Amino acid sequence: MSFYQDILGFEKISEWPAGAIFDIAGVEIGLELKAKPEICLLVEDVDKAYQNLKDKGLKFVAEPKDQPWGGRTAAFVDPDGNEFEIESFQCKVCGKTCQSYRELLEEHLRKHR
Ligand SMILES: [Zn+2]
Repeated sequence: MSFYQDILGFEKISEWPAGAIFDIAGVEIGLELKAKPEICLLVEDVDKAYQNLKDKGLKFVAEPKDQPWGGRTAAFVDPDGNEFEIESFQCKVCGKTCQSYRELLEEHLRKHR
């Protein structure tokens, strides 16, 4: 992770053993470190984004699914085989849909749990 922070200058918002969330000039992305890093993007509605991208011919490797951490995710691969995950998070406590990872971490995960 230090590569992204120290060399590329990404601002780290949060991290966990297998990944981190960065702010790159105002754009937030998550990175899951697997054999090949997986890029995670927060969207407002995973099912809508899933359908939209599927209609454009994108190949999904994971259908939209609720996750134990409270979010809903789906995964696809780009033409070069890079894996992307789209995720959305609706807070079970206040019912709000997150617009950013910062909001997710600072508002909902920290205060509402
Ligand atoms: Zn909340």
